[in-house]
Amino acid sequence: MKQSARKISSQKIISVCAILVSLYLAMIITVTSLGQDKLKAAQYRELDLKVKSYASTLDNLFTLASEDIDHLSTDRTVQTFFANLASGMSMEYGLGASLINLKRKLVEKSSSKAVNNQIIYRQITLTAPDGSPIASTEKSARSFIDTSRFIDVESRSDGVTAFQSASGVVIQVVKPVMFSGKAVGYLIADINKAVVIAQLTNQEHEDSYSRLVLQINDAEMKVWDSISRTLDIDATATEALDAALAEKIYFEVPVDHHHFKLMAWFESLSERDLYTSQAFISGLSVLAIMIVVGLLYAFNLNNTRVGLKIKLEEEKKRKEFLSEQNQRLASEVERRKASEEELAFQAKHDSLTGLPNRVYGSDRLALELSRAERMGSNVLVMFIDLDHFKQINDSMGHFVGDEVLKLAAERLQNAVRKTDLLARIGGDEFLLVIPDLQDADSAKRFATTVLSVFNEPFVWQNHEFFLSASVGMSMYPQDGSNVEQLLACADMAMYRVKQDGRNAFCFYDHNMNQDLQRFLELESRLRHAISQNLLELYYQPIIELDSGKIVGAEALMRWNDDKFGFVNPEEFIAIAEKNGLIHQLGDFAIRQACQQAAHWQSVAPLFVSVNFSSVQFRYCERLFDQIKQHLEESGLPAEMFDVEVTESLLFNHSGDLMEMLHNLRSLGAKLTIDDFGTGYSALSYLQKFPFDRLKIDRSFLQNMFENESDRELVNVIIAMAKALNLKIVAEGIEEQRHVDYLKNLNCEFGQGFHYSRPLPAKDFEALLAKPTWL
Ligand code: C2E
Ligand code: CA
Ligand code: CA
Repeated sequence: MKQSARKISSQKIISVCAILVSLYLAMIITVTSLGQDKLKAAQYRELDLKVKSYASTLDNLFTLASEDIDHLSTDRTVQTFFANLASGMSMEYGLGASLINLKRKLVEKSSSKAVNNQIIYRQITLTAPDGSPIASTEKSARSFIDTSRFIDVESRSDGVTAFQSASGVVIQVVKPVMFSGKAVGYLIADINKAVVIAQLTNQEHEDSYSRLVLQINDAEMKVWDSISRTLDIDATATEALDAALAEKIYFEVPVDHHHFKLMAWFESLSERDLYTSQAFISGLSVLAIMIVVGLLYAFNLNNTRVGLKIKLEEEKKRKEFLSEQNQRLASEVERRKASEEELAFQAKHDSLTGLPNRVYGSDRLALELSRAERMGSNVLVMFIDLDHFKQINDSMGHFVGDEVLKLAAERLQNAVRKTDLLARIGGDEFLLVIPDLQDADSAKRFATTVLSVFNEPFVWQNHEFFLSASVGMSMYPQDGSNVEQLLACADMAMYRVKQDGRNAFCFYDHNMNQDLQRFLELESRLRHAISQNLLELYYQPIIELDSGKIVGAEALMRWNDDKFGFVNPEEFIAIAEKNGLIHQLGDFAIRQACQQAAHWQSVAPLFVSVNFSSVQFRYCERLFDQIKQHLEESGLPAEMFDVEVTESLLFNHSGDLMEMLHNLRSLGAKLTIDDFGTGYSALSYLQKFPFDRLKIDRSFLQNMFENESDRELVNVIIAMAKALNLKIVAEGIEEQRHVDYLKNLNCEFGQGFHYSRPLPAKDFEALLAKPTWL
């Protein structure tokens, strides 16, 4: 940019200079040509004046001569002669003497008249009218003069005339001599041409390149002619002379009363000046051209220098840029390499624990399998799932959950050998691959070691967490030949451990595969069942323990499948929670329960408890609208609608959930905390939530008469619930002694097989009309 600006500015300067020089030249030429014109005019005027002055000089000369000869004609001597002649005087007597006097007079006249010491008259002659000479200053006077040519002269006063003689032009002043009114003779004075020439020449510079011609009558006399002289040609070669004269300035001054004319040719003086000024202009032009060329050269030089400089700078910049780019490229390559390595690591490893991830773990397992195939060895695949880990996450937050996971991974890593592969393949799922497994017994030992890792509590910032794990195992080659099969088998074995109460290990057996098949089939059949409205609600009465009256009904979902028969709700609800069908299923339960309960209100005022999965509360607003809508549609008073939720809902509670629960309360609906005691929540935690009732989990009642701590827990829960102003519902009342015990503790409500199993609506209605226990 800078360079181009410099370029432009120098270009500008050059252009301006060129324009200025051109203007200067044009001005000079104009001024010069104007000057020349003026000069020409001045010269012309000057020459005109000069020729006029020549003419007047000649005029004076001729006038002088004319008057002189005029005087002579009236001179006494001349008149005496003619008087004597007229009187007939003889030559001897008086005429001869007067003739001698006359002659003397003529000589005297011719020799006395001089201009600038030059005698004017070369010869003076007196002739008779017929031309015969009477007297002359020359001894050898002309014998006869043709006076006929004087007729013209006589008519003029000056008498100047000229003729061409053999010896050149002769200028004469001719005056008639009058006697007694009659012309008796002529006085003819030949003018000394040298006087004429001298008179004019002394006014003109010799060197002047000119020509002056005096024309009298038809005779022309060259006064001077430097033109034909310089022409260096024969003066008779008139053509060349005419051509040369044609180029000259020509003046013609007629002097009428003397009847002569001056013709002058001058070299145009300004032609020479013009030549000089043209040379001057040419010089200037050459100079100007040189200046322009010089400027252009300088400009070019400057440009090349600037161009060169630019080029050098560009080159330098380019090099710098290149090296910079190079460096950048190098560091970029390094960075890429590093980030690729990082990415490769990240792609293969779990960012939290640094363990291989699922994909990389699977790859490593595949490698082990092919190695085992070659070596003919066994591989143990272990699926480790942390028990109730979700509750730590939910109650303590994900950050704490992550910390605990890291600790668990660390402990596991320390427990295994270097040749073993430990990978994290899910949130709280680990994969342990043990190559070269000897036998099933060593597999059991490995599993025990893994479980023992969790014996000690995990400590994080003064918090103690008790964790356990469920371990499922499969073995190569008997349980599967590839990664997928072995992982699926270990997974199934792990689920079996979960089902059986967790904190244990289990080997895969082929029955488990049937469980998986069942799960997959159930899932598709459940979808179908929901869309075809094949689900049904059963109702289990909730009894006021004191009176034995049915005060409520818990709606429990039933699915009687064509192929599988009655499917356990815990099983299909877990499936529905996984695939999202729970929302439709829940909606069905709410609508059905509301309609049914609304219908039963005429028989007995009872509330209906509907179970809600935590998953349903992911869309609180929608769920609330559903409940409200079904209540309105069915006409069931909101106070008769009871929402049962489990503790897990409360762990990771949001503002939305709290708002929703309060909205439900404001609507008039009741809130019950279900399965209390199975989760991690402390009773005091419940204070935050607007619950009406608390359901003691049936597992406490199951062993309460055999297990004192269970009994104690029931006592404490009931006492604290009372302190929190919650009504208590005891689940799983199977025997009368449960009733007695609970009544004793002032537990308000109960449900269980002791009163009734969950029943279809029709059967429940019958029971409602006539309870069997009363
Ligand atoms: P839950 O909410 O704890 O329901 C009570 C369960 O205890 C019912 O099992 C009931 O049949 C059983 N039960 C009642 N009295 C006794 C007794 O004296 N002894 C024993 N051993 N069991 C008793 P069910 O019907 O199989 O339901 C299992 C679970 O499925 C329920 O546990 C509930 O969590 C879930 N569930 C059932 N229906 C629904 C539903 O509509 N929606 C949701 N989200 N969950 C449901
Ligand atoms: Ca329930
Ligand atoms: Ca329950």
